[in-house]
Amino acid sequence: MRFLLDNPIFAMACQQFDQAADLLELPQDLRERTKWPKRLVTVAVPVRMDSGEVFVFSGYRVQHHLSLGPTKGGIRYAPSVDLGEVAALAMWMSWKCALMQLPYGGAKGGVACDPGQLSRRECEALTRRYTQELISFIGARSDIPAPDLGTDEQVMAWMMDTYSTHAGFAVPEIVTGKPVPIGGSLGRREATGRGVAFLVNRAAELCKLPSSLRVIVQGFGNVGSHAALELARTGARVVGVSDRTGAIHRTDGIDLAALQQHAARHGGVRGFPEADPIDDREILLQPCDVLIPAAVERVITGEIAGKIQCRILAEGANGPTTPEADKVLAERPEIFLLPDILCNAGGVVTSYFEWVQDLQSFFWSEREVYDALYRILEEALSTILKRVGKQKSSMRMAALMIGIERVAEAKRLRGLFP
Ligand code: GLU
Repeated sequence: MRFLLDNPIFAMACQQFDQAADLLELPQDLRERTKWPKRLVTVAVPVRMDSGEVFVFSGYRVQHHLSLGPTKGGIRYAPSVDLGEVAALAMWMSWKCALMQLPYGGAKGGVACDPGQLSRRECEALTRRYTQELISFIGARSDIPAPDLGTDEQVMAWMMDTYSTHAGFAVPEIVTGKPVPIGGSLGRREATGRGVAFLVNRAAELCKLPSSLRVIVQGFGNVGSHAALELARTGARVVGVSDRTGAIHRTDGIDLAALQQHAARHGGVRGFPEADPIDDREILLQPCDVLIPAAVERVITGEIAGKIQCRILAEGANGPTTPEADKVLAERPEIFLLPDILCNAGGVVTSYFEWVQDLQSFFWSEREVYDALYRILEEALSTILKRVGKQKSSMRMAALMIGIERVAEAKRLRGLFP
């Protein structure tokens, strides 16, 4: 399994793990058992393209640990997807679920493809065949997929349908992040972004910042757009937005409803007429109160970390900040970090609620979903803050220590078979 270390994202996840395990003084045997992913599945996914040709895509699913319940995590469709990236993301899911006290291990899946280049029919064929290839590895009691970068409710609906057709009856609890009419949860779509906004507002209170926060968001997908909308609703001014098509800036604040319409019509934020275009690296360095990387890994490098001008760095994405950047941030105590496994946990927490509702066939109001979500996020935040106070560690290390410690404790209690 050590070959995974050749992947820079997996190496980064391990570096974070080793640092937190050192701080925890985790015994060597427990450390090894807690670190390595339990199952790595690679599948060939043949799809007949609209051109008539058959293309074989590479699909992956990694289940990191099975010690606390089924594994849980999203499915990513992106050209960069590979086994190492998926394994790193599965590892982060483990610490995130444990930090939130969900009865899950971490997982992640993905297919190396460019979803923007697939027709709807090709995307459906890809999704159904990928699900079929994974049928003996996933299950409502073993491994529960969800959306991630490049996938959405429709993809989850196709996954559920494929699995249910195989079973012979509807199995809504096989995936989360489904459309509400087929067993999805109210509030799930917006949950990650709203969770980010909730935590940003809590961090702003702790930093005694005024409520008229200036916000810059990198990524205008499911996480970035809902975080921006919710922050705007609570009084913030979104001054910058970027996505893979480009970046825009407006000091007086961007009209997000108009931007959403523009992005839907043109496939991204580029060319939005009511704001100024700006370089997509420069946008990260503009003065603001809150910077939200909500796209991909490793965008806040050591160099960028030294130049950002925010008070709160809210990690909507998974793994957006490199270990080198963390070292720089340690010298910049004026920046309050909301680490990924806390900041974007609203998604998986609400997925957990969806799974519970499906298993019980008893559905909650949106109010019940958000009350429960905010209660769990608040508790995780205060547990982390206590740990920071006790161990004088960073927010990231405190969050990781809590998650890793809970997984290691489950393994210690269960013992080693045989
Ligand atoms: N893909 C999301 C994440 O990274 C959600 C996972 C889930 O809901 O299972 O946390």
